[in-house]
Amino acid sequence: MLYVDAHQDLAYGALAFGRDYRRSVHETRTRESNTTIADITGTCTLGFPEMRRAGIGLVFATVFTLPAEHQKKGELAYHSIDGAHAHALAQLDIYNRWVDTDEHLHLVRSRSELARLITLRNDPNRGRRDIGLVLLMENAEPILDPDETDEWWKRGVRIIGPAWARNRYTGSSREGESLQSLGEALLDRMQRCGFVLDLTHMSDNAASVCLERYSGPLVVTHANARRFVSGARMIADEVLQGVTAGGGILGLMPANWALGKPDSAGQRRGEVSADSVADTILRLRRYLGSGAVGLGSDWDGGFGREQLPGDFDSIGDIGAIAQALLKRGASDEFVESFMGGNWRRFIEQVLPE
Ligand SMILES: [Zn+2]
Repeated sequence: MLYVDAHQDLAYGALAFGRDYRRSVHETRTRESNTTIADITGTCTLGFPEMRRAGIGLVFATVFTLPAEHQKKGELAYHSIDGAHAHALAQLDIYNRWVDTDEHLHLVRSRSELARLITLRNDPNRGRRDIGLVLLMENAEPILDPDETDEWWKRGVRIIGPAWARNRYTGSSREGESLQSLGEALLDRMQRCGFVLDLTHMSDNAASVCLERYSGPLVVTHANARRFVSGARMIADEVLQGVTAGGGILGLMPANWALGKPDSAGQRRGEVSADSVADTILRLRRYLGSGAVGLGSDWDGGFGREQLPGDFDSIGDIGAIAQALLKRGASDEFVESFMGGNWRRFIEQVLPE
């Protein structure tokens, strides 16, 4: 069993709030209990100890930078391109320090590193404690100009989602603008390096241009289909069809708001359950096929426990999705595919040798 989570903003939480995800969720919550951190970004839901308990062995770990225009009180945001660049480099430092100081954490930048991770996880003496991190840049603003794209490849980033909000490269689902000419140059460089392109947060126009222009691998790491949940942040039919036709995958966010459920008030949390998540997954399977959906939690990505379905206290409970799927008659094979098999197969194919 190797569960894969295709979206966790680990280093942003570390840089902005001092969260150290080598600690357990319980320890982080205790440490934050006399601070305002949970009020700013939600109650912590992630920790490598809980991921290990749940069977997560591979995470797409983001380098996410927040533009000042969208900063809420207490968040860490950049005010210039140089600031974005500095925040992103600082996050890479955090990942590098984590893998240097924890022998069970590993960067996964190539097929051979993925194979090594699998070998370590299958070693009974290591107790399935090993977790691989595939680095994903969310918001391309830290890339100083398209020529600098190669440097981020050398630094280990393998997936880029150019959008979050509008930036120099592209419009986002917030404003609706399309890909900019600088964005076209960015795509060309990304393609030459071998990056995976993440269409999450893009406007429909920008995503359509990417579908036409980009011949490298495409994914949506954390969203839902707009046909099931309305709103520009969810993914349009044509875009999803284009991504999955090329072998790409949609990572579903098991967060209340991404399931089209009440999203903020703690008292409504219990109205949504792991069963609601399973229903959405089965709907997506009928629509996109068994091989095209996976998990992309985005937990701790600007929201916390308050916005998760009632069955989930932390990432340690992610197996409740598998249980709910089985209860609804899904096969072991499909459950394994959704929880990790699809992402593993995809990433195996797209990483460089
Ligand atoms: Zn995001």
